[in-house]
Amino acid sequence: MRNYYDMTLTDWQQWVKEQNLPSYRAKQIAAWLPRGINNWAEMSDLPSDLRHRLTGFFTIDVLRLEHKLVSQIDGTAKYIFRLPDGNIIESVLLKYHHGQSVCISSQAGCRMGCVFCASTGAGFGRNLSHGDMLAQVATIARDSGDRVGHVVIMGIGEPLDNYDNLISFLKRVNDPAGLNISLRHISVSTCGLVPEMLKFTDEGLPVTLSVSLHAPNDEIRRQLMPIARRYGMDDLLAACRRHIERTGRRISFEYSLISGVNDRLDHAKALVARLKGMLCHVNLIPANEIEGSDFRQSGRKAVRQFWNCLTRSGINATVRRELGSDIMAACGQLRRRIEACENP
Ligand code: SAH
Repeated sequence: MRNYYDMTLTDWQQWVKEQNLPSYRAKQIAAWLPRGINNWAEMSDLPSDLRHRLTGFFTIDVLRLEHKLVSQIDGTAKYIFRLPDGNIIESVLLKYHHGQSVCISSQAGCRMGCVFCASTGAGFGRNLSHGDMLAQVATIARDSGDRVGHVVIMGIGEPLDNYDNLISFLKRVNDPAGLNISLRHISVSTCGLVPEMLKFTDEGLPVTLSVSLHAPNDEIRRQLMPIARRYGMDDLLAACRRHIERTGRRISFEYSLISGVNDRLDHAKALVARLKGMLCHVNLIPANEIEGSDFRQSGRKAVRQFWNCLTRSGINATVRRELGSDIMAACGQLRRRIEACENP
């Protein structure tokens, strides 16, 4: 069975031809994608025998809502979906003054093993297809009853470890007859897979690249992120500089502040030395504490001191507003809890 959301208009054109159906049916079937439906009965403009035929070839309920949690503080909503093969993923709806943004997962689980991240704890299930990624956006847009204007690929998984599906997703998400989301309103976050970053730059897509840095030097970075043992900071930052040069777009760095580990003043100064002169923005995120980890969130004073040091040295930095803190909105936290309940 194929995933309805994986089918492009060209795929539908071919299918209707094989099925000896009139060619206009292709567009009709494809047109339902941005509406985020999960059952064929809703395709009200199709005859029932065609809807029935579709059920024999395709799965449309590719995301089964397992839980939805809405933050009482800021309206952030977290969706836990079960995939037909049993894997669990998470997506988050964030409401900003400029509109709705959805944070999607790119893989069920993650292979990167960052020590502070809950996504790794539950292991790796599989890559998500481009349709699985589109379905997250479409399903949430539908559930919220409002348009989604921005997408961040910062949920579970490492998007550049699922390269081809990521690129297909990006090529489909701005289809005017589909979700119609501008690539300029999309961010892709990577832990720093250097060869894939080089390739990604060459795709020339006007999306924002976010790089999870989390450390001012290789020594600390290697303690936190196994990927840093494969690619050092010199190579990583060279790939970032190349991206800025080739695309003219600024890079966003993610820096999670962990008490006593990477949040001291000398760390901030070392970071300044590495980033000085780069067209970049640093997102400081007081680390979310996860179960089973000794890491503690940096205190307000340390966060302020770190931010001050960067901004006074001319580096653009913001402290990320913590959204949905009451619903464990941070990556992978809820999925892990659910799986922990299932496998005590
Ligand atoms: N694999 C990608 C995207 C997923 S994670 C990447 O590494 O960028 C999205 C961001 O949240 C990353 O910057 C990640 O390092 C950060 N993150 C993960 N767990 C966190 C935690 N417990 N506290 C703060 N930030 C965390």
